[in-house]
Amino acid sequence: MSYQTVNPFTAEVIKTFDNHDDAYVENALAKGHALYKKWRNDPVESRAAALNKVADVMAEKADELAKILTLEMGKRFSEAQGEVAISVAIARYYAKNAAEFLKPKEIASAIGPAQTISRPTGVLLMVEPWNFPYYQIMRVFAPNYMAGNPMVLKHASNTPMAADAFEKLVQEANLPEGAFTNLFIDYDQVSQIIADERVQGVALTGSERAGQLVASEAGKNMKQSSLELGGSDPFIVLDDADLSEIKKIISGARLYNAGQVCTSSKRFIVTEKNYDAIVDMLKTAFSEAKLGDPMLPETTLAPLSTVKAKTNLTKQVKAAVEAGATLAFGDVEQNQPAALFEPVILTDITKENPAFYQEFFGPVGQVYKVRDEAEAIALANDSHYGLSGVVFGGSAEHAAEVASQIETGVVFVNSFGGTLPELPFGGVKNSGYGRELGDLGIDTFVNKETIVTK
Ligand code: NAP
Repeated sequence: MSYQTVNPFTAEVIKTFDNHDDAYVENALAKGHALYKKWRNDPVESRAAALNKVADVMAEKADELAKILTLEMGKRFSEAQGEVAISVAIARYYAKNAAEFLKPKEIASAIGPAQTISRPTGVLLMVEPWNFPYYQIMRVFAPNYMAGNPMVLKHASNTPMAADAFEKLVQEANLPEGAFTNLFIDYDQVSQIIADERVQGVALTGSERAGQLVASEAGKNMKQSSLELGGSDPFIVLDDADLSEIKKIISGARLYNAGQVCTSSKRFIVTEKNYDAIVDMLKTAFSEAKLGDPMLPETTLAPLSTVKAKTNLTKQVKAAVEAGATLAFGDVEQNQPAALFEPVILTDITKENPAFYQEFFGPVGQVYKVRDEAEAIALANDSHYGLSGVVFGGSAEHAAEVASQIETGVVFVNSFGGTLPELPFGGVKNSGYGRELGDLGIDTFVNKETIVTK
């Protein structure tokens, strides 16, 4: 396996990184474990200043950091700046709130007064994907640093510069050695780390396949795990929805980050009344998208992350059309250079079509026509995934009732919400388990130790 930066807009190889050997990994784990022993005795508050310093350094270097994302995974520069900003906000959020989230909880027990206290558990491994290279790290790093769990990172092999830059930020903020170490390692080394008795958990964000493999290693070794996996999120449009509001957000809901967002709307589920209007709206939005150089401000649609991602998505579209889907917009042949991919709209997707249950990780919108609300809910839930969703309806209250019937981790009513530090994030079904962000996001790898006094 090689860690390599390849510019998706030009397909040019920018930089190749050497893998770390086992001795390097051992050193990271030893330092992390020693730090865990120390952190066990330090109050949570004592770590807040350094996390704010990480946020400060990140904010100071925002454009430099954003350029790395644009260069190595093709994100539009303004989106890359947005990713740096949300990462800074997550760091500040946990620096401010972690002590409150982790404060002892008093319990009146029949034996005597009791309390549940929050203790760190040890070194953690995080395995992260390329689509939001800093944000994905920060979602795990900020809460667990405050909780007192040192971390090692295995990042995606196509975003090594971002992984390296994050480690440098942590060093520049003077966090102690072992607090966070980036490792360029192969899958066998990932398994060895999970098996190591100093390591107490693994947090993975990525595909179902990686989730299955990594979580089974964790299970075999009786280690805690959290999985943030894929999604084929529904966007339900009810009869009385305000179409003018949908028009404002529909492009971003599908095309933000070149459609490579686990929570982007992938299946538009529309009642008969609004079906044609939504298909037309998507066509307009997709035809207005300016595909091109992600560094240029006039570009509104970035390339995919790699040429391999483009090849795979093109195959998925072809297979869907061969199985009877209608190509309502775009082309099955993607003749643009490098990883540039023109947007596509698919309709008339039957349950027998492989596309019905697949995640399309790129600018491909599926639109489904349903008779009524009940059919919309049933179709939304007819998915292996359950990550997020959107419901648009004339009555926000009623749309929220519909939202509560969707089997998913989060639903946005009458908006396409992004991510915020205070909103817990995670899925059900094959979208994974556990939560990141918010108050829930700090608990996963914390030992809730109950002390009972007679
Ligand atoms: P991926 O192939 O699963 O890669 C994710 C990470 O897992 C990478 O660091 C990858 O390393 C590593 N990995 C893969 N197989 C592994 C194994 N057998 N052992 C150890 N590590 C392994 O994911 P992707 O396809 O690049 O990312 C897109 C997927 O992530 C989509 O399904 C998307 O929906 C999901 N995602 C979910 C969330 C969420 O929060 N729920 C957020 C973003 C993305 P290499 O790069 O070296 O293979």
